[in-house]
This record gives sequence, C-alpha cells and structure tokens, in this order.
Amino acid sequence: MEKLFSDLDAIYDEIVEIRRHLHKHPELSFEEVETPAYIADFHQKLGHQVQTGVGGNGVVAYLKGELDGPVVALRADFDALPIQEETGLDFQSVNDGVMHACGHDGHTATLLGVAKALNQMKNNLKGTVVFIHQHAEELPPGGAKSMIKDGCLKGVDVIFGTHLQAQTPLHEINYRTDALQASADAFEIIIKGKGGHGAMPQHTKDSILIASQLVDNLQQIVSRRVDPLDSAVLSVCSFEAKGPYNVIANSAKLTGTVRTLNEETRSFMEDEIKRIVEGTTHLSNSDFEYTYDKGYPVLVNHKEETEFVMRMAETVPGVDEIKEIDPIMGGEDYSYYLQEVKGTYFFTGASPKNLVDPYPHHHPEFDIDEEALLIAAKILAKATVEYMETHSQR
Ligand code: MN
Repeated sequence: MEKLFSDLDAIYDEIVEIRRHLHKHPELSFEEVETPAYIADFHQKLGHQVQTGVGGNGVVAYLKGELDGPVVALRADFDALPIQEETGLDFQSVNDGVMHACGHDGHTATLLGVAKALNQMKNNLKGTVVFIHQHAEELPPGGAKSMIKDGCLKGVDVIFGTHLQAQTPLHEINYRTDALQASADAFEIIIKGKGGHGAMPQHTKDSILIASQLVDNLQQIVSRRVDPLDSAVLSVCSFEAKGPYNVIANSAKLTGTVRTLNEETRSFMEDEIKRIVEGTTHLSNSDFEYTYDKGYPVLVNHKEETEFVMRMAETVPGVDEIKEIDPIMGGEDYSYYLQEVKGTYFFTGASPKNLVDPYPHHHPEFDIDEEALLIAAKILAKATVEYMETHSQR
C-alpha cells in the first residue's frame, strides 16, 4: 500500500497542473464543453474505455483490473459558478464572470490523479473502477440524476466521493454515518390581490400587506410546528411587488428555499406552507398560486461504507484528524447516487495555510490548499483498492 501513496506523491505535480488548468478555464453548469473533452482525453490516453455525453455533458471512464472483483465508482463534479473571480491567482479564470468557486476543479484533478495511480497498478487490481465525472452539480436539476438514468451506476457495487472544504482545516477529514446534507427545495407563491389607488385601499386587496403577513406566518412553521430536535430551514429569499408610489400592487411574488434532513419533514414543510398560504389569503379573500419544486434529496450516507472509508483515511499520511460532524443544510446531488447504491460522501479539509479566516465557498476570493487534493486522492485510491481486496472473494 505504501507504493500506492508514493505513486500518488509522484503524480501530485500533475494533479496541481490539471487543477490550475481547469481553474483557469471554468465552465457553467450544463454549458460544459472543454472540460468534459479534457477529462475524456486524459482517460483515453490511459487506455480507459470512455463514454461521453452521459446524461448531458457527463463523462464515465472504466478501468478494468486484471483480476476479478467488485465494481467501485468514484465521483467528481466539474462545473463552475457564475461569479467574477477576484483571487488574483496566476491561474485566475480567463472566462469572464465564470469561476471555480466551489473547488470542483480540485475534485476533478484529484480523480484524474487517482485514475493514473490505479491504472499503474491495474495488473494487481481486483475489480473495475468506474470514474464518474459529473457535470452541473451547482444548478438543479443537476447532472447526477440524468447520468444515473443513462446508466453510469450499472453494475456498480459501491460509490465513494469527497468535497474539498475551504473552511475545514487542512489535514482534517469530516464524515457522517447518516444524513450529511439537506434536501434543497424551492417554492414560489404568487398573491393575487386586487390593485388600485394608494389613497383608496378600501377598493383593493393589498397584495403587499398579504404577502408581508405571509412572510411572517411562514416563519412559524419551523419555530412552532417542526420538532425542535429535528431540523428545517425556510427562507423567503425574494419579495417582488413593483409599482409607482401611489398604486397598490395587483399581485406580489415570494420565492424561497426549504431545507430538511429527512423525507418526512420535507413533505410536512411542503404541506404546511400550502396550509399557511391558504389560510393567509383566505383572511383577505384573495387568490394565490403555489409551486413547490423538489430539488436534490437528503444526502444519506451508508454507515458501514462510511466507517470503512474513514478507517482507510486513518492510514493516509497528512490526515491528522478525523471528525464526525453535524449535517450541513446545503444540498448536493451526490444524494441521488446514494439512493441507488451503497457508499459515502465525506469532506476533505482544504483551508489555505496562509489564511486565518478563509473565504467561504461561492465567494469571488474562494481558494483551497492544493495539498488537500493529494490527501483526498490517497483516501479515494486506498479505499478503492482495499474495498476490492476485501470484497473480491465473492
Ligand atoms: Mn460544490
């Protein structure tokens, strides 16, 4: 196993080079062209069987070991965000208004490094590795669902993946044996009041007043209706009712997001919002339209596979601390893979060494420490090889 780690040490410079190349040339979700081509080319040069255009812009590559064994999938996303980069790095984005501000460039570079290292030991590899390079993680409906529909998990026994975390210290690994990330849904409510003269409210149904009451009432769902020991977030994030100073708006629109950590609470939230919208508009004898869009489901890790990967992480040089964490309320479409096959998703600490207060993900100055890529690569590679060793006698 030492050889696997020293092989990755030798590949590290190339991993960094790949990351910087991708960082310089980011592409938006569902608009990825150069990135998947680059990834496909890398795998083709290694002699891997490659499928492009999987579920959209996804790329899937296969490394078949010489020996029989299980099928292990590894997933990395590769899309960027509509943000103007302000890091001032040598390899800063050259695409205006587009930036790798979530570390997906690092995820991809890590996975390509793992592909190269595992390829070097294919004569001793007991099974098949499926490299799932996923497009469009940042923008619902995401790329995972369509890639699965297109067969990327066919025959797969287990899946592993990681997210680099800029606000987690370098050398620290975070995991959770059950729900790690929340469901991420969106709602839209249109209040259909009755517009009119601002001086004669008696002839109107004031959409702004009704929508204001609604914002207030909606906050009672989490505070008064959800079990305090459960978790949910409801945020109204936009309120639109435009008009001149003396016109009562005819309608008002509210949009927002709902996050939960289990499916029961998720559908409870959907129903409660409807009940409150009905009640609030009933008071003012007005109409409404209510749309609840289900986004990514709750990301639920599998216990045994999570504990297995963390045992592997313990053996990786540079991993000083492995911590179980509370779930986070951000969504992630890796959740779809875990609904189909066993596996885990964990966080690799990537906080830049020189920063006391690192920039958050999706910030114009977001950055990661590249050493985290090597650590992540070692964990994923070792977990793959060791999983094959322990599951190849089937
Ligand atoms: Mn991300």
